[in-house]
Amino acid sequence: MKAPMIKVIKSLLLLTILLVSSCTSLSWNMLDPNFEAQNFPVREVRTVIFKDLLIPQSLGDALISEANLNLESQAGIRLKVIEWNQGDSSWILKSVFKIEAEMKQQLKDRNDYDIAIALTHQTPLGFLMSSTVGWISGYTDDQYRRFIVLREKNPWILEHELWHCFIFSHDHSWNGIMSPVGMRLLPLTPTIPIGGRHITEKQRKEVLRNKWRDFTKPPRDEEGIEKAITQSRIDWSRCIYINH
Ligand SMILES: [Zn+2]
Repeated sequence: MKAPMIKVIKSLLLLTILLVSSCTSLSWNMLDPNFEAQNFPVREVRTVIFKDLLIPQSLGDALISEANLNLESQAGIRLKVIEWNQGDSSWILKSVFKIEAEMKQQLKDRNDYDIAIALTHQTPLGFLMSSTVGWISGYTDDQYRRFIVLREKNPWILEHELWHCFIFSHDHSWNGIMSPVGMRLLPLTPTIPIGGRHITEKQRKEVLRNKWRDFTKPPRDEEGIEKAITQSRIDWSRCIYINH
């Protein structure tokens, strides 16, 4: 079979998986009459954002409001942005780990926030890779689960990273928004969530259990064991890889 035909079949197959899995992850919450009530009270997560100067404020606002719609409707969580800061322009050349360290340094004497998010561009290599074979689109730290770097300004990737701040028993699943893989039908087009935009029922239970967590302390699993002790801080599986 010729290569272009294989590529078309691959794309159609992935699109079918996307549609089927989206329906699957949507259906479970509609069956529970107590679903909405379980989301209350709403937790407002105090959020500091560092935004690259080249990213329009309107795009930053749209990202947050769309992510808030999905977080609030599924688990009663919403980001309350307490501060917009200008991100360092050199972040376009730095790794997500360096950006995380610099965010931490800037916020080290503060205790008035829960989560910090860097909205940055891909590095030149990352841009090339993400347009072809796939690259890191988002990152959440594994020590406190409160520092997020968003390379691709895509609300579902932000939502994926934010759910990592409340789900500790596992990193990814193939069903729902915690699928670790997105795809592009064509280079330079936005990434599509293969698993859909919803967390699974099991993941939602864990999110509701951890909803009021203290972000200044490392997350704990169901047995009360600190996850940061049991896991390597640098966990590449916590990043979303994109393919097309
Ligand atoms: Zn992830």
